[in-house]
Amino acid sequence: MRRIVVLSGGIGGARFLRGLRQAAPEADITVIGNTGDDIHLFGLKVCPDLDTVMYTLGGGIHEEQGWGRAGETFAVKEELAAYGIEPQWFGLGDRDLATHVVRTQMMGAGYPLSAVTEALCQRWQPGVRLLPMTDDRVETHVVIDDGDGGRRAVHFQEYWVRLRAAPEAHAVVPVGADKATPAPGVLEAIQAADVVVFPPSNPVVSVGTILSVPGIREAIADAGVPVIGLSPIVGDAPVRGMADRVLAAVGVRATAAAVAQHYGSGLLDGWLVDTVDADAVEVVEADGIRCRAVPLMMTDVEAAAAMAGEALALAREVRPA
Ligand code: GDP
Ligand code: CA
Repeated sequence: MRRIVVLSGGIGGARFLRGLRQAAPEADITVIGNTGDDIHLFGLKVCPDLDTVMYTLGGGIHEEQGWGRAGETFAVKEELAAYGIEPQWFGLGDRDLATHVVRTQMMGAGYPLSAVTEALCQRWQPGVRLLPMTDDRVETHVVIDDGDGGRRAVHFQEYWVRLRAAPEAHAVVPVGADKATPAPGVLEAIQAADVVVFPPSNPVVSVGTILSVPGIREAIADAGVPVIGLSPIVGDAPVRGMADRVLAAVGVRATAAAVAQHYGSGLLDGWLVDTVDADAVEVVEADGIRCRAVPLMMTDVEAAAAMAGEALALAREVRPA
């Protein structure tokens, strides 16, 4: 299990990766990051999930919050608000802002997001190879009622941050994904992998968005290596956040078993559920996915490392001889 590929969103993926790096210090880890959450704000290109991975693994994350920079200040945000500039609901910090300035400047000079991400990682040294899922623009939109008998689509960040996922989500659409191509190195990493891991990231708007880029799902299914997932749902609710709201939009119940069934045995070989969901093991195995119940709460790096160790052990168990 030397070459490990992980499909990651923000917090759930990043915290898992920190554990994986500790559990497998010799491994060569490639992270395929979700970019469907990306948004343009004040002329700047913001990539929340890539940055959460980069800051978490690089030691710059706001630890309790799980996103954004440690020791952050919000002077620029306050000044923008004083001018009455919208949107004011997105927490753009001063330190964080520098990342977006560098990114936007490089992209303006013609560098693709993958090259920009590599350059930003020169500073953070995350200890993994961090690739965006695509260099093309993909934006996740959520379809909600417009309050006038019709429906409208809002950017995922508006749904998640401004509306706090309160309106019912009728659909989740990765706009642009159908015409996107995987970023350089993505398919190659999957083809060369010894194991592919779905961390406890959001199955719809993180892992699901990555899988919606044409070619990625197929490459994983065809790679002939174990594909192991960890449930972000513990005790029939997301550990944090509002994943249940977007799972409902795709007709999936917020249970560890239902998420495994959503990925399906065509993609997943192994699935880890929390010990409180031990009842799910039989249900998931009946669907042809090897399943184990182990502690899945990432209370600290050691706990995340233990989870990563369990995922690799399950991979060795299901690996075709
Ligand atoms: P986001 O992009 O920042 O929302 O992060 P991800 O998509 O990577 O992960 C979000 C998911 O992580 C949520 O659905 C949470 O339920 C899950 N999560 C967060 N902390 C934990 C944890 O300690 N254990 C497990 N099993 N899942 C977690
Ligand atoms: Ca995200």
